[in-house]
Amino acid sequence: MIAPANAPPRLTAESLTRSFEGRRVVDDVSFSVPAGQVACLLGPSGCGKSTTLRLIAGVDMQDSGRILVDGKLVCDTTFRVPPERRAIGLMFQDFALFPHLSVAENVAFGLTGGYAANRARVDELLERVRMTAHLGSYPHALSGGEQQRIALARALAPRPRIMLMDEPFSGLDERLRDGIRDETLALMKEEGTAVLLVTHEPEEAMRMADQILLMRDGRIVQQGAPYNLYNAPADREAAAFFSDIN
Ligand code: ADP
Ligand code: MG
Repeated sequence: MIAPANAPPRLTAESLTRSFEGRRVVDDVSFSVPAGQVACLLGPSGCGKSTTLRLIAGVDMQDSGRILVDGKLVCDTTFRVPPERRAIGLMFQDFALFPHLSVAENVAFGLTGGYAANRARVDELLERVRMTAHLGSYPHALSGGEQQRIALARALAPRPRIMLMDEPFSGLDERLRDGIRDETLALMKEEGTAVLLVTHEPEEAMRMADQILLMRDGRIVQQGAPYNLYNAPADREAAAFFSDIN
């Protein structure tokens, strides 16, 4: 899906700042993600990636700065669209399935009419996450990695305009991980979702991103296409971050 040339970016973050106990954890962060593109927020543990996502999701609020979706303001310091009305999908590490619902019902949860009315969509997603055989199972009968794959399918099901993903593929079985990752991101690109994907793995960002946002100590120290960061890192630390990739 290709957005019209004059369309505003699907997601825009403008000068977001958030402090905890006087320390700036997110410090003047600005970027934008067009529809159908993947931006990777890449940086070491503790640099402020999850906090940035929480601001955009609306589950935490910035001290200053603005968030826009399709050019429309969703949050500044005086105005705030609640999280459930932002058409944003979330795939965080602390996902939880509904224990009383089957796999199919969990995936269909956000869809009007449940599984009965959305078979094709649910079946397609279960195939992408390699869980077709578990359609009628209940969460307690699944491994942690399998539950995570169901949570991923559930987040994708309503075709959110924006998907925020916090290390959604870490913890998955290595044999399956790359296939699930490549296929689910390809699906979101086809559907015009703007994806903000948090990772601390440079290889994952190099492979999946249209744009890398390299973060350190709350600030974005460099942003651009993967090959630009790889070929022309902003400084020594950025270079070291990419040096292990072959
Ligand atoms: P990352 O996701 O990049 O590992 P986080 O955004 O989770 O980093 O955290 C960035 C920093 O902010 C860390 O030092 C963390 O301890 C701190 N932090 C995050 N949330 C809170 C909070 N609610 N209260 C106090 N400090 C926090
Ligand atoms: Mg984090």
